[in-house]
Amino acid sequence: MNTKEKDAAYVAHTYGRFPLEIVSGKGSVVVDEKGKEYIDLGTGIAVNSFGAADDEWIAAVTAQIHKVQHMSNLYYTSPCADLAEMLCRKTGMKKVFFGNSGAEANEGAIKAARRWAFLKYGGESHSTIITLRNSFHGRTVTTLAATGQEQFHTDFGPFTPGFVYADPTDCHDVERLAAEHDCCAVMIEVVQGEGGVYPLTKEFTEGVKKVAAERDMLLIVDEVQTGNGRTGSLYGYMQYGLEPDIVSTAKGLAGGLPLGAVLLGERVENVLSPGTHGSTFGGNPVSCAAALSVLGRIDDALLAEVRAKAAYIVDELTGAPKVKSVSGLGLMLGIETEKPAKEVIASCMEKGVLVLSAKNKVRLLPALNIPWGDLKKAVAILKEAIAE
Ligand SMILES: *Cc1c(COP(=O)(O)O)cnc(C)c1O
Repeated sequence: MNTKEKDAAYVAHTYGRFPLEIVSGKGSVVVDEKGKEYIDLGTGIAVNSFGAADDEWIAAVTAQIHKVQHMSNLYYTSPCADLAEMLCRKTGMKKVFFGNSGAEANEGAIKAARRWAFLKYGGESHSTIITLRNSFHGRTVTTLAATGQEQFHTDFGPFTPGFVYADPTDCHDVERLAAEHDCCAVMIEVVQGEGGVYPLTKEFTEGVKKVAAERDMLLIVDEVQTGNGRTGSLYGYMQYGLEPDIVSTAKGLAGGLPLGAVLLGERVENVLSPGTHGSTFGGNPVSCAAALSVLGRIDDALLAEVRAKAAYIVDELTGAPKVKSVSGLGLMLGIETEKPAKEVIASCMEKGVLVLSAKNKVRLLPALNIPWGDLKKAVAILKEAIAE
């Protein structure tokens, strides 16, 4: 059996895969089983922040693997402590809880908010969390419940109660829900990624900030996809002038190894006390060493590069033949095309470029350091695939 046949026989059929097996890569170029090369504008869904098999990243990971690969949270390890310090220094947050994925980070964020309310009100009276319609927060039973899309609220019930959904284009809807329910938090993505790459407006986030302050609610920002340099700032919320109480992140944090983090601000820094939360693999030293390398490289110069490359893509595609719209922030972009996204993706693949979709859009999430040559070549091919 080849890989595709084995996968069909033995891997649970939860994914609609493209007919493509990736065997290796370097930077923004990946290679399939037949030796064909592709410029990768998807980076494993915003995970490989510095592309495939990046030399600095490999050095950081292998150095740690040669020391020890895992020790459990019963003991101290320096990469975990160093990474928590770096995250707090760069964001002003006070404590970090480490897990392994975006969903787990959001579970941690939800638990922290609920426990804050529990300690404050002595029960479940303020357990409700406002999330946004069209959001995506993960695949566990609770993060599915947090996800504001009806299509995710079936087949696996009963779902975790205590979530209400606001219109992401109308901050008065957040105000209304906050008045109707005793809420502990409001949870947002500043750019709705899986929902179709829709950035929130500043007017909306200002409204959310105001309601949260008035109603004594925590602000949780899900930076699983928007985080770690993706949008042209270290975290997306920084461009909105927000001061979240809790930030969840994952995807690009460790540049290709599983790692999620919950950043806890001053109001919640101590709500997760010993025994209240945990994760066997959380804070794994290899993942943390990888993240130290990734975050250490996301400086002002790199972020300026991200913004310049984003501006180039937006400029090239806006008004191009058969492009209806371009949305997003930084190197997290959605392109609405006249042709179905599926056809554009297939044509790009044929021509040697990998792109993703989000709802009806073609989605781009290239490496933060994609070389200009690769980017220009890939955008030219993408334009061709859209126009044909
Ligand atoms: C991908 C994503 C998640 C889920 O992350 P997993 O690592 O797949 O669990 C949660 N929230 C947002 C905004 C995401 O983009």
